[in-house]
Amino acid sequence: MDGACHCGAVRWRFEGVPRSATSCNCSICRRHGALWAYGFEDEAFTVAGETATYVWNRRSLAFHFCARCACVVAWLTTSRGADGRNYGAVNLRLAMEPDAVAAVPIVHHDTVTKSDLPRDGRCVADVWS
Ligand SMILES: [Zn+2]
Repeated sequence: MDGACHCGAVRWRFEGVPRSATSCNCSICRRHGALWAYGFEDEAFTVAGETATYVWNRRSLAFHFCARCACVVAWLTTSRGADGRNYGAVNLRLAMEPDAVAAVPIVHHDTVTKSDLPRDGRCVADVWS
């Protein structure tokens, strides 16, 4: 499936349907209201187009957003793992077709306990309608 920022300058493509959409309550995610679909860049997803970044969390994470329309597109680790892979997530809020992500289950991640809360049965459609 495909996603794009509001102006269309930045796009992501996610292979298949994400298994979950994470809503995180950390200091930056709660401000963005993003719904994250995780994976490795160039495997689970790709991001295309020029982005501006905001580097955070002891400079380990870079939030990528469109420099023109300011939509938050993705976050990626700032350095690759020992296997050369780059972990991150795309923001499902930018899905081109909301119906394509409507049934994806929501996972609430609690940054205080660093764990996912028990699932409550809600899916993307429940927070995006
Ligand atoms: Zn844009």
